[in-house]
Amino acid sequence: MAGSLLCPATGLGDDIETNDNANPVSNVVPVSNAVPVLRVAEGLNTNGSLVKYYRRGLNYATEYFGNYGPYYVYLLGPDSESSVRKIYRQRAVSRVNPDSDRPAEQQIAEYLRRPNVVSEIQAALKGKAEGGLTWTQEKPVLYEDVTTNATQRALDPVENTWGALHEYHHVFQMAHCDTKQDRSSEKNINSWMAEGMATYSSAKFMDNMGLVDFSRYMLQLRVSGANIGRPGINDFLTTTNTWQLDDESYWDAGKSAPVYYMLGAWATAYLIHVQGVDEVVVLKNWYHDIPRLGKSAAFKKHMGITLTDFYVRFNDFICQPDDDVMKIFQSKENSR
Ligand SMILES: [Zn+2]
Repeated sequence: MAGSLLCPATGLGDDIETNDNANPVSNVVPVSNAVPVLRVAEGLNTNGSLVKYYRRGLNYATEYFGNYGPYYVYLLGPDSESSVRKIYRQRAVSRVNPDSDRPAEQQIAEYLRRPNVVSEIQAALKGKAEGGLTWTQEKPVLYEDVTTNATQRALDPVENTWGALHEYHHVFQMAHCDTKQDRSSEKNINSWMAEGMATYSSAKFMDNMGLVDFSRYMLQLRVSGANIGRPGINDFLTTTNTWQLDDESYWDAGKSAPVYYMLGAWATAYLIHVQGVDEVVVLKNWYHDIPRLGKSAAFKKHMGITLTDFYVRFNDFICQPDDDVMKIFQSKENSR
C-alpha cells in the first residue's frame, strides 16, 4: 500500500510518534541552512533513479519550506551488509552528543545496541519495511527519514517523490513544535494538523509537478481512502456517530488514525478554499508563530477564526455529499 511509503515507520499514524529521546531540551530549531544528507546502501540506486526521484520531492519541499535540519535520509536495502552497517555507524556518529560525559565511542556503541536500531538493521538486511521519520529532542537535534526497503521504493518513482514531500513537511512542522509536549498542548500541533497538512501539501505539490490530479485525490480520500488507508472519509462518517478532529485518542485506537490524514487534509482544504486563507499561510507561515504565541493564538491570527469555531464549521462542511464539497476546488480553478 502506498501509505506505507508516506509513513513507513510502523504503519500509518506512527511516523510522528517515533521520536526516540525522552530527555527534554530546547525544541525550536532555527533555519539551519543544513543541506539534507542522503545515505544510500550499496546495491541500490544503480541507475540513479532512486535518489533522483527522492530528490525530486525533497528539493521541491526544501525550496518551499526552507532548510531545516540537520536532516539525514537513509535509503537502505539487503544487498550489502557491510554497507548497511557502515551507514548505521555513520548514523551513530551523527548522533554523538559532544557535551555528554560519556566518550563518543561509548555513545556510538550504545546507539548501535539499541533494540530498535538492531531491529532496523535486521529489517534492512531482510528487505523488510521498518524505520520512518525520526527525530531527536536532545542534543544534537536532528531529523532522519529511514527507509529500510528502498528496493521497493525504487520501483515506484511517484510514491518515492510523494513520500519525500510528505516527510519533509513533518521536518518543518517539528522544527516549530515542542514535541515533548502533548499534541493537544499549545506548543505542539494536533495530529490532524501534522498529518492532514502534510497529506494536503504533498498531494498539492505532486499536482504542481504534474504527477497527481489533486482534486481527484481529495475525492478519493472521501470515496476510498486513496493511498492512506481504509476506511475512507465517507465510510468513516457513516459508521462513526461522534468524532472530533482534535481527539488525540484515535492514535491509540489505531484503526482510526486515518482520520488525521484524510479528514485533516480536508480540514486544510477548508481553510484554504472556504475560509480563503492563502495556501502558504496555512501550510507554512502560521507555524512560525506557534513557539511564541501558542497554537490557538497563532491559528486565530493567521486563519481568522478560532480553533473552536473552526471545528464546528468544518464538521458541518465535511458531512455534505461529495458533489457539494468538491465545488470548493471548482470555484478556485474557474477563478484562475
Ligand atoms: Zn506523516
